[in-house]
Amino acid sequence: MKLDCSISQWRVVPDQPLKLKKVPTKIEPLFRSTEDYRAKLSEFRAEISRWQSLLYAARQQALLLVFQGMDTAGKGGAIRHVMSGVNPQGCQVHSFGPPSDEELEHDFLWRGVKRLPRRGMIGIFDRSYYEEVLVVRVKPEVLATQLLPPALVQRKNFWSDRLDDIRQFETYLHRNGTKVVKFFLHVSPEEQRRRLLDRIADPTKNWKFRLGDLDCREHWQGFQRAYQDCLQHTTTKPSPWYIVPADNKRNARLIVSQVILHTLEKMRLELPSLSAAQEQDLITAKHLLEDNPS
Ligand code: ATP
Repeated sequence: MKLDCSISQWRVVPDQPLKLKKVPTKIEPLFRSTEDYRAKLSEFRAEISRWQSLLYAARQQALLLVFQGMDTAGKGGAIRHVMSGVNPQGCQVHSFGPPSDEELEHDFLWRGVKRLPRRGMIGIFDRSYYEEVLVVRVKPEVLATQLLPPALVQRKNFWSDRLDDIRQFETYLHRNGTKVVKFFLHVSPEEQRRRLLDRIADPTKNWKFRLGDLDCREHWQGFQRAYQDCLQHTTTKPSPWYIVPADNKRNARLIVSQVILHTLEKMRLELPSLSAAQEQDLITAKHLLEDNPS
């Protein structure tokens, strides 16, 4: 199944300038009605689930899905809605909040590396090592907690080197059978304001509200610049970024589903081939079971 649009329009093309401001946060609905949306999402989920079973059976490759976005962009909801049909044994979600003391005592990729998916698994990062070139870049006080030697931090290329490190890390993962796909859920400040007010007004959503979310609004331009630089420099053919217009959560979920499905289809997943001995075992077992019905 496919949406009536091409997903390549949201893929960030390597080596091309990107103007995030020009990328829409809102598009026409990709569904005709609530029923149509539900039917589409449910079909995507079923197809993703079938591919995930194959990924699991083959146990050669892994898929890492990275979700980034400003607060309220809908990362958690997208992950829940899109992945809910997938066998939980084959899928692990990790959320990355502020690092612990132990994590700060290691290099910046360390905590992400520990949570990478095994072969056969889908790993989902709700925020990720990308925070190291986003919040850490936008807020100098966060960088100051990182216990780095001042001479390293003061280097002119500090941020471009970090971006390079991430790029190379993902190239390394690709060469080792882990496919990385990254989603930036792109919301407008107006839509974020609406969602924050909704969190305050709706008692069932009050728990999601953090005063710190307002602080990030003050740094909106800084974040947009950091995202732009990051998306531009770390999108690669094997590990692309997709900028998902996310003012409409349903559209965003459909786009994310279609991209995941497209990625799985391209991974050339096949059931593992059996050795002669395994085939012989199947024949022997079949005879044993057929000859002994009770
Ligand atoms: P979310 O905003 O993702 O819905 P949340 O509000 O429940 O999550 P947490 O998951 O506890 O909050 O933490 C998210 C916060 O952690 C974000 O503000 C993010 O910028 C911050 N964070 C993530 N990684 C780092 C990092 N490496 N250094 C500093 N802060 C980080």
